[in-house]
Amino acid sequence: MRIGIYGGSFNPIHRGHTQLAASIVEQGLVDELWLLVSPLNPLKSGEVSDIAEYEHRLKMAELATEGIQGVKVSDFERHLPLPSYTVKTLAALREAYPEHEFVLVIGADNWERFPRWYRADEIIEKYRILVYRRPGCEMDETVLPSSVQVVETPLYDVSSTEIRASVKKGRMMRRWLDSRVARYIKEKGLYL
Ligand code: ATP
Repeated sequence: MRIGIYGGSFNPIHRGHTQLAASIVEQGLVDELWLLVSPLNPLKSGEVSDIAEYEHRLKMAELATEGIQGVKVSDFERHLPLPSYTVKTLAALREAYPEHEFVLVIGADNWERFPRWYRADEIIEKYRILVYRRPGCEMDETVLPSSVQVVETPLYDVSSTEIRASVKKGRMMRRWLDSRVARYIKEKGLYL
């Protein structure tokens, strides 16, 4: 099977993440999309002080994706040495599941920063990458490597940062949060 790998801190997961994931699967770009909850993003550590515990982020991802056809949550990176660099994660996935083809799914915001990723050239050389558009991110599609494909998905103008800030102010942004996730955040007292 072609498995899309969609990684992030998902702190917390929001409808931008889940609708994007569903759209990638619905368009038949991959057979399944695995949402990889990362223990700690090497580029973000130090930036985000209000990172919820891994168990919470994983649980919220499971709640939000329940019933979405073809979208699964994976804790694969939890068992890998830190920091969880994508190139290492992809290699470990290939080894663990030789029967699958793994395709990296990233936003245009991450594609802009991609040259800074650890062993970026190796990722481009060894894997297919699907890049979806993000607001305010222009891509020069004339110079993309052959392994990179731009995919059309709706734009969702929301971020986990905005959600955490609003929770702190006592608002839940229910438009962008799955109701089960909103309830979980409230029950556990996250992001206060
Ligand atoms: P934060 O605000 O904490 O930086 P985030 O909302 O960007 O978080 P991440 O967990 O970093 O979420 O994102 C995981 C992946 O989802 C990243 O590849 C990111 O580009 C993408 N992503 C984030 N927000 C959206 C969105 N609104 N629509 C589509 N993709 C998104």
